[in-house]
Amino acid sequence: MGYDPVKTHLMLEKHVARGYERKYYRFRVDRWYGGIVTADCVGCGLFCKFCWVSDNVRLRPLKVGAFHEPEDVATRLLSLSRSRGVSQARISGGEPTIGREHLLRVLDQLSGKGLLFILETNGILIGHDEGYASRLSGYDFLHVRVSLKGCNENEFHMLTGADPRGFDLQLNSLKNLLKAGVSCHPSIMTSFSTEESLKELMIRLAEIDEKLAEEAEIEELILYPHVVERLKKYGLKYRVAHAPDKVPPDQI
Ligand code: SF4
Repeated sequence: MGYDPVKTHLMLEKHVARGYERKYYRFRVDRWYGGIVTADCVGCGLFCKFCWVSDNVRLRPLKVGAFHEPEDVATRLLSLSRSRGVSQARISGGEPTIGREHLLRVLDQLSGKGLLFILETNGILIGHDEGYASRLSGYDFLHVRVSLKGCNENEFHMLTGADPRGFDLQLNSLKNLLKAGVSCHPSIMTSFSTEESLKELMIRLAEIDEKLAEEAEIEELILYPHVVERLKKYGLKYRVAHAPDKVPPDQI
């Protein structure tokens, strides 16, 4: 039935988080959201077959990157945002909810600095532990984007190889965030889904909260060369995808 995605996240946590430190491999400014400063962390407990992170990073969490204190991460994000005139920040490259105390301290450091922080997560740990969403509720500059892997349990399993019940954890994360009053929306990887499964998901989202269905973002595959290789390896066929330089403007 696939691996337990909570266990993989918690196991990985032992290697990429240490006290208040977390491993990162890159700090940069990226084009998404109209410009966003980005700290790329190491490690994710899902193994999406379409993941854009290179195998060099994805498969070598023990070897890649370096540990950083939360204060250092915040300082780097702020410095990049000021030098490049960008007012949004995020942690990407892996799963930023691994190493909760680190993440909360980064947010503490960014508090009152005029940035919008977008937490891009697969939602597994937030869906598993309601207390995580409560801890995120104290930050008025935080918005959480939960990236749903497909439109239902079967698609989630096909895309990640994880236990299909992981999809319920993803939906549960949205419930927990809403309950805690944290600003959030779902983003849906639809490249491998049918129109029917997307419609059914929209109904499920609306049952949780109308706003989730209204604000759901469509995410489509980007054909970076290593992603194309990976899809070939898994024999995974997509319905829609874009070349890296031809991503529709509404998805940037
Ligand atoms: S959740 Fe994101 S970072 Fe993790 S494997 Fe999937 S696409 Fe990659």
